[in-house]
Amino acid sequence: MAVAISTLDTIRDKVVARERLDFEDGLALLESDDLLAVGELADLARRVRGGDDRVYFVQNLNLYQTNVCRVKCKFCAFAVTQKEQGAYTYTAEELVEDASRQRELTGFTEIHMVGGESPHVDFTYYVEIVRHLHEALPDVHLKLFTASEIHHMSKLASLSHEQVLRDLQAAGLGSLPGGGAEVFADRVRRLVAPGKEHPDEWFDVHRTAHGLGMPTQCTMLYGHVETYEERVDHWLRLRELQDETGGFLSFIPLAFHPENTVFERRGWTHTAGSDDLKMIAASRLLLDNVPHVKAYWIMMGLPLAQVALHFGADDVQGTVVREEIFHAAGASTETEQKIDELARVVRAAGRIPVQRDTLYNELRRWE
Ligand code: SF4
Repeated sequence: MAVAISTLDTIRDKVVARERLDFEDGLALLESDDLLAVGELADLARRVRGGDDRVYFVQNLNLYQTNVCRVKCKFCAFAVTQKEQGAYTYTAEELVEDASRQRELTGFTEIHMVGGESPHVDFTYYVEIVRHLHEALPDVHLKLFTASEIHHMSKLASLSHEQVLRDLQAAGLGSLPGGGAEVFADRVRRLVAPGKEHPDEWFDVHRTAHGLGMPTQCTMLYGHVETYEERVDHWLRLRELQDETGGFLSFIPLAFHPENTVFERRGWTHTAGSDDLKMIAASRLLLDNVPHVKAYWIMMGLPLAQVALHFGADDVQGTVVREEIFHAAGASTETEQKIDELARVVRAAGRIPVQRDTLYNELRRWE
């Protein structure tokens, strides 16, 4: 029996017929040298599935509760030990004071906060952070803690993921960001994040959150030791959970930044812009059930993010204000953009800027 060979033409036929792409299609997209054709296919898929010219962003604030971490992922330039210079762990009061000051300046609607897995705090610390932030800023959506951090809390407190999430939700947690996914393949995780929990735990946290009515995001950290096959496997695993729960709001491909990591000493460099664009496009094409794909401007810079809007992305994330994780690893982008600047950039790319809240309700549209 002849084996069907996946080409951009066969993928186009599937997109138009709204058929699901498979593993071979994913490989064909990543292996293609025709970058513009891949981008055009992704934009077509986005439109065929109901997308229009709107591009979203949120007025948000990034916070980091601690940079102390026990895990030692090899790609991480952010984490330190408690004794290292520059180590910090903020109290709930300090975080509230900082966030309240920023709120007066910008009126952000979302706090995005992640941090290291510190062994020097207990679960109460996390619950108190959420409670204090929620009480001080009740109108602000709290998108806090990666699945890895939730798993860390479950270990600290000897509680199930569900109980941890229920306690945090009761304190005011609204949703989870998508970090900690890295690349799910066991081989990759052993090489770059041997101290991290098994991917099954990541999936269990997200499945449980979705079951509690808590939406989440999902990511892939690409551009290190993973193969194309492992990238496609990662997307298909996410797609499977989304079929089951429908709880992912968006997917964010994150390019690996090598500075200040062990990989810098091996002479590794940043991903090429062409790979970043191909990842946006292939993500949009394969993840047919995840509503939004983000071109995270902090990672790729605003000019490439503008191009990515024609490669299947429909979100540029947000104002951010402070970014520490990618900048510790060498990102040279700004750390803050004003809402009007994001709107200008989106409009200049030929799209309609829309300020959204965390759950994609429209707050303002620039026609
Ligand atoms: S990526 Fe996260 S878990 Fe890994 S070392 Fe850095 S802060 Fe810790």
